[in-house]
Amino acid sequence: MISSIPTKRKVVFLTIDDGWEQDPGLVRQVRDQRIPLTVFAMRDAVEAKGTPDQSGGQARFVGAGKWDYFRELRDAGSPVENHTLTHPDLRTLPYAAQRRELCGASRLIGKELGARPTLFRPPYGSYNTDTLRAAKSCGMSAVLLWTATVQPGGKIAYQVPDKQLRPGDVLLLHFRPNLARDFRVLVKKIKRRGYELGNLQAYLDATLAR
Ligand SMILES: [Zn+2]
Repeated sequence: MISSIPTKRKVVFLTIDDGWEQDPGLVRQVRDQRIPLTVFAMRDAVEAKGTPDQSGGQARFVGAGKWDYFRELRDAGSPVENHTLTHPDLRTLPYAAQRRELCGASRLIGKELGARPTLFRPPYGSYNTDTLRAAKSCGMSAVLLWTATVQPGGKIAYQVPDKQLRPGDVLLLHFRPNLARDFRVLVKKIKRRGYELGNLQAYLDATLAR
C-alpha cells in the first residue's frame, strides 16, 4: 500500500480516476505536452452504465469514447490501471466479492487494452487486508492511494496542515466536466512551485525493487 512516492526530488505524480466524462481535449493536452499521467479506470464509468456520480455530473462527454478514449490515453503514454468494475466500498464486501471486482476489472482492461493493470486504487480509498490479498491474487503489484485531491478549477486540497506540495506527492483528479481546463491550471501551478511531473511507473518500479 503506497500513498506517496519516497523521493527527495521536487516531483509530483498526476492520477485521474473513474472515467465518466471523456473530454478529447485532455487527451490532446497529454499527448502534445507529453504529460506523465496514470489513469485508474472503473468499468461502469468508462462504459457509462447507470447514473454518473458527482464526479461525472451532467457533462458533455459522458461515456463519449468508452474504452476507445482509454486506448487513446494509453497511446498518449498513460498507463490504464484498475479501479474496480462498479466502484463499491470494498471494506463492506467479503474477500470473494472483492476479488471479483478486482480480477474482473483487470481481465476487462487486459481484453480492451491489451495489457493488464499492475496497480490498483480502491474506491474512496477504502480497503482492508482482503483488498491487499485480492490485488496480489489478481496480478497487481501495488495499491496506490493519494496525498492530495484536485478540485474543480485546479485547486489542490491538501491532507497536510501546511498546505504545500511535498516531493513524491500523488495528486488525485477525476474525469469530470472542464477537466482539460482545470488540468492546464494545475500543471502551470505545479511548475510555478518548482515541481516537475514524474512518471509514476518508473518511480514505483525503483521503489518496489528496493
Ligand atoms: Zn473513484
